[in-house]
Amino acid sequence: MPIATTNPVTGEVERSFQALSDSELEQRLQAAADGFATLSRTTFAQRSVWMLAAADILESKQDDIATTMTTEMGKTLRAAKAEVAKCAKACRFYAESAEAFLRDEPVDAAAVGARQSYVRYEPLGPVLAVMPWNFPLWQAMRFAAPALMAGNVGLLKHASNVPQTALFMQELFSSAGFPAGAFQTLLVGSDKVEAILADKRVVAATLTGSEGAGRSIAAAAGKNLKKTVLELGGSDPFVVMPSADLDKAAEVATTSRCQNNGQSCIAAKRFIVHTDVYDAFSEAFVARMSALVVGDPLAEGTDVGPLATEQGRKDVQAQVQDAVDKGAQVLCGGQAPDKPGWWYPPTVVTGLTPDMEMYSQEVFGPVAGLYRVSSYEQAIEVANGTDFGLGSNAWTSDPDEQERFIQDLTAGAVFINGMTTSYPDLPFGGVKNSGYGRELSAHGIREFCNAKSVWAG
Ligand code: NAP
Repeated sequence: MPIATTNPVTGEVERSFQALSDSELEQRLQAAADGFATLSRTTFAQRSVWMLAAADILESKQDDIATTMTTEMGKTLRAAKAEVAKCAKACRFYAESAEAFLRDEPVDAAAVGARQSYVRYEPLGPVLAVMPWNFPLWQAMRFAAPALMAGNVGLLKHASNVPQTALFMQELFSSAGFPAGAFQTLLVGSDKVEAILADKRVVAATLTGSEGAGRSIAAAAGKNLKKTVLELGGSDPFVVMPSADLDKAAEVATTSRCQNNGQSCIAAKRFIVHTDVYDAFSEAFVARMSALVVGDPLAEGTDVGPLATEQGRKDVQAQVQDAVDKGAQVLCGGQAPDKPGWWYPPTVVTGLTPDMEMYSQEVFGPVAGLYRVSSYEQAIEVANGTDFGLGSNAWTSDPDEQERFIQDLTAGAVFINGMTTSYPDLPFGGVKNSGYGRELSAHGIREFCNAKSVWAG
């Protein structure tokens, strides 16, 4: 895949970049090892000063970097600005809480027959981060902020279609004051990932991306006995029960499905609605999906921009066509306009059956699958009936039913009467084929630490 900015509005290549040569890559790996030797000996207080400076830079450059993201992958400028603000918040969060998350944890010394015993969290070394284009700043930041605050160094292999955002990340941490080698962007293709993982100087890897990339990286890491965190795809259920606030549910369903032009791992993708309220919900949902403004992502008032890549749109078109060919009905959208760029309209499809790809696979575009169920039990069966388990939503005002959903939905997160999203304070990750390990919160910062047991007699 070429390393280039291709504007999804026009389909035109705007800037191309040369991949690193083998000798340049070797220099970066050595710089990472040297950077770790320096960074790991700094204090939390010092790293916190640098991380807060990074937050300030993000806020001062919000418009510029947001415009770059919109140009590289098509998200609306409004969403891109919000993403920059969220990244600044994550920098501040870890600047202020990393030390507490990684403080020595006392152990009952008598229980282990020691005079003193505790657990110490130490950084591991250079970590490779393989990242996707859909939230090009946020995905990279939710790895970088905790990693750097723990004293690890980062090597970012970003998606090949967001090279300018990738280079901005390196510039950001360097300008904020972090030592040389603390955070580097590697402009390389995915074919280099296995060799980087095999290098002794790289101690671990984190991937946010597709299931296929997850399998490749887990295999390469396994061969080299390197720890991994995998944040993969999802096909989140959004269950609507008879006692739900239907208007609110339809509004949030629309936002959740179409935010980021439908390209979010934790977007609600399958809308599972109790038959008693199916017609009312369906009508409200289709009306809201049809009313979204699709257009220039840089323009005020646009709700949905183009998909990020030509291949991405082809995949979405093929999945909808497959469903239609096998008998599904399209309630709105469903046809890509005949013009330059990778446009696809907000779409609702119903009548889905297990032989259709949409039933079990993730659709990475603004396409909702609508399912009718006749009981709580059937709702859970459909909701848990895929190989994914990232986020999940349930809408009900019945407290007992809420408790049952929390218990019965198989996922890394359950949101009741609200949209699944990420917060620095909450762990983020999946179960089943959505991956393993956690980002964010105390869980995220500890993923790449050595929990060292200390026993002193
Ligand atoms: P992708 O094709 O898997 O790419 C993600 C990253 O992995 C890119 O840097 C890509 O590099 C690299 N890559 C791809 N194949 C690889 C391989 N075989 N070996 C090593 N590296 C490889 O995914 P995407 O299309 O960018 O992102 C969409 C997917 O990410 C969706 O499935 C979405 O649900 C998932 N996602 C998950 C989360 C989460 O937190 N769970 C968050 C966001 C997105 P190149 O660009 O050079 O190919």
